[in-house]
Amino acid sequence: MGELSGFLKNHNRSFPIGLSGKTGIGYVLTGGISPLSRSRGLAIDQIVEIKGFWGNGKEFHLIQPNIQKKSFFEWKALCGAAIFLGIITKVKLKTQPLRPLLSWTANLSFAQLSECINQAESWPNSLSFQWICGDDIFAHAIGEVISADDESILIKLLEKLPYSRNRIINKVNDMNSLPNLSLGKTKNNNSKHSEVLGLLGPAWQKNNSKVLKIIRDIINKRPNKSCYLASQQLGGITHINNRDTSFIHRESTWKPWINGAWDAFDQSKRKRTLEWMEEAWNNLEFICPGVHLAQIHPHLDWHQRELSSAFKEWLPTLQEIKGIYDPRNLMPPLK
Ligand SMILES: Cc1cc2nc3c(=O)[nH]c(=O)nc-3n(C[C@H](O)[C@H](O)[C@H](O)COP(=O)(O)OP(=O)(O)OC[C@H]3O[C@@H](n4cnc5c(N)ncnc54)[C@H](O)[C@@H]3O)c2cc1C
Repeated sequence: MGELSGFLKNHNRSFPIGLSGKTGIGYVLTGGISPLSRSRGLAIDQIVEIKGFWGNGKEFHLIQPNIQKKSFFEWKALCGAAIFLGIITKVKLKTQPLRPLLSWTANLSFAQLSECINQAESWPNSLSFQWICGDDIFAHAIGEVISADDESILIKLLEKLPYSRNRIINKVNDMNSLPNLSLGKTKNNNSKHSEVLGLLGPAWQKNNSKVLKIIRDIINKRPNKSCYLASQQLGGITHINNRDTSFIHRESTWKPWINGAWDAFDQSKRKRTLEWMEEAWNNLEFICPGVHLAQIHPHLDWHQRELSSAFKEWLPTLQEIKGIYDPRNLMPPLK
């Protein structure tokens, strides 16, 4: 995605890539939540043409304007659940004009995080808020500057955000120039294994302090310092395109994700971390009923629960489509 962004920059165009330039086409195929998604939509909303091979070996080539007639269900299935159905060999994507971005970063206390989330829930769609919480809380707000008037409105909103230290407001040219959402350098990352579980849910509003308390408890209980919680903001008008896709949680405002890590090959630490992740999921489920399957876990007991929360009432039809196009389950299982 970073390469795509760099290439497009040379042509004064841009694409809503995610928080990392390191991800590949899987970012687009699994939905693709960008800090710019609130105004531009998801990465799957940018697909206009898709080519590949179903799990049964048959080739397909679908073009978006024709989908209403023949291939409605296939198109809907491929936009968000393609990785379960076949191998994608080519996508044609819409791009947008390159615009400057405002970046606000700071370290926060829990009380400040609570207030920032509260403010972000009434922001215009050109601004989004993301945070990561471990020993410390680091937050990153990103805004797209559409006009000079717009820029001063966004700066006023960013200046209202509370912080404890290290506040930096910058203007950058493209997504590749934004700082990483991270808690700083972690030592010896190769000696850790990890799982990531992405949740989706509505604005916290009056549940704000309750959710923050749960998050604080989860962090206090984490099995080691490589485990953390983070979140990105979507919501607003991600449904603007009115496109029917397998990303059914379009109304969601927040995507918190749980990062569980353990010393590589240590089965008892792995078990403890996975239990912590599941407990965190259970405790957050009331405010995050959905799942974003950015990472799939067919090797874990949660797989079925994750599929149900990701696709809800669309899952049975998706399973029928898989039965036709990938009958031998060559691609990851949908059960
Ligand atoms: C640092 C980091 C930051 C991230 N930030 C965001 C973010 O901001 N927003 C967001 O939505 N997600 C984010 N993600 C999640 C990321 O988008 C998913 O993990 C995504 O699946 C990664 O895709 P990949 O191609 O890099 O990885 P891979 O592991 O290669 O692929 C991911 C999945 O897609 C399948 N796949 C890959 N290529 C194809 C293909 N051609 N045809 C069919 N299936 C295929 C793979 O089998 C695998 O199941 C982030 C992940 C990381 C590691």
